[in-house]
Amino acid sequence: MTSVPVADPRAGFLQVRPELVDAFAAVLDSGDYILGEQVAAFEREWASYCGTTHSVGVSSGTDALALALRAVGVGPGDEVLVPAMTAIATWMAVCQIGATPVGVDVEEQRYGMDPRLAQAAVGPRTRALIAVHLFGQPADVDALARVAATAGIPLIEDAAQAHGARVAGRMTGSLGSLAAFSFYPTKNLGAMGDAGALTTSDPELAQRLRRLREYGWRTRDDAELKGVNARLDELQAALLRVMLPRLRAATERRRVIASTYLDGLAGTPELELPPRVSDTEPAWHLFVLHHPRRKALAAALARAGIGTAVHYTPAPPFNTAFRADGWRDGVFPVAERHAATALSLPMYPALSDRDVARVVEEVHAACDVG
Ligand SMILES: *Cc1c(COP(=O)(O)O)cnc(C)c1O
Repeated sequence: MTSVPVADPRAGFLQVRPELVDAFAAVLDSGDYILGEQVAAFEREWASYCGTTHSVGVSSGTDALALALRAVGVGPGDEVLVPAMTAIATWMAVCQIGATPVGVDVEEQRYGMDPRLAQAAVGPRTRALIAVHLFGQPADVDALARVAATAGIPLIEDAAQAHGARVAGRMTGSLGSLAAFSFYPTKNLGAMGDAGALTTSDPELAQRLRRLREYGWRTRDDAELKGVNARLDELQAALLRVMLPRLRAATERRRVIASTYLDGLAGTPELELPPRVSDTEPAWHLFVLHHPRRKALAAALARAGIGTAVHYTPAPPFNTAFRADGWRDGVFPVAERHAATALSLPMYPALSDRDVARVVEEVHAACDVG
């Protein structure tokens, strides 16, 4: 019996191995290794995919978020609203620029930041709101955009898990002032190392981001801003350009796998499945279910050769680095319940129908014995 890992970026790469090797060789021979033609071409293709006029390639998703905050003028001492349940990178990006992340609990049904709680969390030092499309499920951006507009602050999308997700037909990455993407290898569009990008339709923000990512250079004779080095490599851009034309089909495959799980596992005792939210098309970065005894479920699946993972425990505010800021148990009940019961099933485009069926069967077997 072969084992089924929870994620398998290598399988996706191996399907196009010859093209990746050619892309690698072309960069090798070009003599141009950072911020060259491959990056420029990828930026055009990524903006077009997301339905924005600009994309700016950078070194990682975390750096993309930090640059987004800097580009809209957030700095030391400012506060940024972030969901209490997300990858810890969302919180760390705020800290990277000396600002303070302020946690807001998430919606039970949608995983995204709860708009009513966001409204209540706005204070005199709040300078931005980061909406995370967690697990590829779009957050309620329309309601969150209204909160941001009322507060006079920009809405930044953390779309690191949501490449190709849609809300009422609109692409994530085009829903706020600007958006941050990660191309970490396991993400829906992955590179073979660290990489990220921003998308925006504001030409001034795009220009500021281009300067900020490379020492603040306006030209090589003048650094206009206090920038950083967060450049994207030619090699990663060239590899991403091989994978991007396959992203639509890969997302479709994730959607088929998700429906098979949702149909196959419906009605399983004590198992809570991801919500179906009307008018949204998730990108299914992860398939996360909830079970009151997730440890036993994970152990039973592991014995059957099926990999699982937990996204995320503890919730970001309850990591050692943030506990010191005074976040107390009980203030984020939804995030805490999620952290205590979530379990991710295998989810990646190369997963075969047979493996998906086996996962369903083994989850049933594990839940039926309790
Ligand atoms: C992966 C991820 C990031 C960070 O991206 P890196 O490329 O790893 O820096 C940020 N936010 C979310 C929600 C992520 O999943």
